[in-house]
Amino acid sequence: MSSILKTLSGADNYDPESLRVDRARELILDLLRPVGGHERVFVRQALDRVLAEDVVSPIDVPSHDYSAMDGWALRAGDLAAAGETRLKKIGSAFAGHPFEGKVGAGETVRIMTGAVLPQDADCVVMQEVVRVDGDGADDAIIIPPGQRREQNIRRAGEDLQAGRTAIATGRKLRPAEIGIIASLGVAELVVRRRVRVALFSSGDELCSIGTPLVSGAVYDSNRYTLWGMLTRLGCEVIDMGVVRDDPVALEAAFREAAACSDAIVTSGGVSVGEADFIKQLMAQLGEVAFWKIAMKPGRPMAFGRIGKTPPDGADGTNASGAWLFGLPGNPVAVMVAFYQFVRPAILKLAGVDPVKPFPAFPARCTEPMKKGRDRTEFQRGILFQENGEWCVRPTGAQGSGMLRSMSEADCFIVLEHDRGPVGAGDTVMVQLMDGLV
Ligand code: AMP
Ligand code: MG
Repeated sequence: MSSILKTLSGADNYDPESLRVDRARELILDLLRPVGGHERVFVRQALDRVLAEDVVSPIDVPSHDYSAMDGWALRAGDLAAAGETRLKKIGSAFAGHPFEGKVGAGETVRIMTGAVLPQDADCVVMQEVVRVDGDGADDAIIIPPGQRREQNIRRAGEDLQAGRTAIATGRKLRPAEIGIIASLGVAELVVRRRVRVALFSSGDELCSIGTPLVSGAVYDSNRYTLWGMLTRLGCEVIDMGVVRDDPVALEAAFREAAACSDAIVTSGGVSVGEADFIKQLMAQLGEVAFWKIAMKPGRPMAFGRIGKTPPDGADGTNASGAWLFGLPGNPVAVMVAFYQFVRPAILKLAGVDPVKPFPAFPARCTEPMKKGRDRTEFQRGILFQENGEWCVRPTGAQGSGMLRSMSEADCFIVLEHDRGPVGAGDTVMVQLMDGLV
């Protein structure tokens, strides 16, 4: 038996006829390795890319001690043990225009937010609590009691220290990271190359947009949702169109896809009747397991490799092979299976480390819901607030062909493998779709 199928069949809790959602995800993630290949890009081009080399801070951030308030800089040692303290104003410090002297005993400097802390000052008192006595050059500055050394001061290196890792390899770069990188004065960085994903739909009933819909045909929508989901994940998508349910055409498509991609995502053709001829084809082309996942929707799924398997320990780059995710044909099943399995897999291939589980939180379900036994169900839900509490209701009809239920939804209601039906008012877990996509 070939190596992927051998690894899978030797794994604990591996039952290809009824595989739990969590287990399927673990099995996939265990087999995948990040793809090789790096690119040097400018900071703005790095948004949503995965960092391939640690960003080490060349400077302290902030690079100098500064005031976090508009107020008065002084020496805490001058403050009276009890009652007010009278100080003499000796100058001003503005952001970008430091005060060029020292603060001596009994002295204070007017200071603005972001201005460099004058030498020997170790306390900033906010201007709102300070009184100015007089109206000329010899004003006395009256500081009320209750001030502390170091208050309202930001010290050099407090945020990031020179020589230390500011952002670690494997981080997907969001606006916050882009800002940090800019705050270090770094203009270029090294990111992993994008994951290349080849995509096609299979089915004799499929009709491409822009052509008339013949009787009994359906427009191929899966390729568009998949394109959207893959693009959002930062993949380079190779769209191979629609492939007929014909062994010769499918074989050619799989070979072509495997030669130019890291992963192949297909929809349709893995349901029971169709899987048989595809299974034979797959046995010739690579090593693919056909799973029935204990979930709804999205039960049938094929996972494995087309072409050569990378040797153990090698990165996931292999010009002569690609991972295969054969998703079911039903449009909602495609999206659910994508988010639950393909998305974490792509993140792993992309080098994201760690690949985190989806964010989920409890919400009160306002309508009853049926639940099948021994499977995980992903209902589409709409979140809303009632008396400050987060509530969720299903989006009406939940057929796995009804893409409208995905479009109306902002979350999945996850009904766990072992749970029973849901009563109105019960707590359920929801996965935010905005967090997923
Ligand atoms: P299958 O998994 O191939 O048996 O397909 C299951 C259902 O999904 C059938 O009703 C198909 O017509 C539909 N379907 C399959 N592929 C697509 C597609 N690319 N776009 C829209 N519907 C599809
Ligand atoms: Mg089909």
